Amino acid sequence: MAIQDKSIQCSDCGSTFIFTAGEQEFFKTKGLTSEPKRCSPCRQANRQTRGGGGSGGSQFRQMYPATCAACGKSTEVPFEPRGDKPVYCRDCFRK
Ligand SMILES: [Zn+2]
Ligand SMILES: [Zn+2]
Repeated sequence: MAIQDKSIQCSDCGSTFIFTAGEQEFFKTKGLTSEPKRCSPCRQANRQTRGGGGSGGSQFRQMYPATCAACGKSTEVPFEPRGDKPVYCRDCFRK
């Protein structure tokens, strides 16, 4: 029976990728019955985020939108704004 290339929609990025006949054969020899859910770039990214670690730590700082209590400008703060504390933009904070 002939195996044909299959197009699958990536569950991560939503783009369509080809699950080739060769890959399907490979999956079979590995005893895998399920199809891949992600395209290879997403699979690689996934492996890196899960496998990596140890180096660098988080360089990205989560910023939260907030409104400055002094001037009313919208700004971003590196912590989650709570109602009990006023939040200031960088300009007002310096004063
Ligand atoms: Zn993808
Ligand atoms: Zn301000």
